[in-house]
Amino acid sequence: MGRKKEKGTLIVLSGPSGVGKSTVIAELLSARKDIHFSVSFTTRQPRAGEEDGVNYNFVTRQRFEEMIANDELLEYAEYVHNYYGTSLRVIREELAAGIDVLLDIEVQGAAKVREKCPDAVCIFIIPPSFEELSRRLHSRATDSEEVIQGRLQKAREECRQVPNYDYLVVNDKVSEAAAEIIAILTAEGCRTKNR
Ligand code: 5GP
Repeated sequence: MGRKKEKGTLIVLSGPSGVGKSTVIAELLSARKDIHFSVSFTTRQPRAGEEDGVNYNFVTRQRFEEMIANDELLEYAEYVHNYYGTSLRVIREELAAGIDVLLDIEVQGAAKVREKCPDAVCIFIIPPSFEELSRRLHSRATDSEEVIQGRLQKAREECRQVPNYDYLVVNDKVSEAAAEIIAILTAEGCRTKNR
């Protein structure tokens, strides 16, 4: 008489650059070890500390374009002059095996996922305010003022997509944001009807 789970849940997480998404994801994954993080493909260069196959699968533009041509991607998008995309095969296999899979993707990719997988749980993470986002981007001290202003502008555009997501989480404190996401996923697991 218990709840039966035949298929894994696809979880989509989006949010502007600088919102602290990766930190929230790390906290979420350490609390929910059953969730698999989908390692995306990208044509951008690895940043210091990033590992191939762990943070991303780093590929050439040529290889990425082959994957597009061969329909190997569930979704992809071009973001700040680089391609980013999600492997269709990995997602299909994991969901079919009953595994919950988490995608960290930007808003255009999320829109494609919603079209193809209407039962995906889509969560958008926002900063407490644009002033706070600006402060966080400045405190990274890695980007020029021009780049920071560009990211802030992009963040405003991305936040217009919030109504297309199922849930909104404010990342004021990482532990609270992660706890809210865990609560959302717990509730989703107790659903009696499909959305
Ligand atoms: P970053 O270069 O900072 O790691 O990522 C830039 C943006 O690309 C982030 O908003 C991240 O969520 C998004 N992203 C990462 N992987 C994918 C993917 O597979 N598909 C799409 N559409 N966006 C992705």
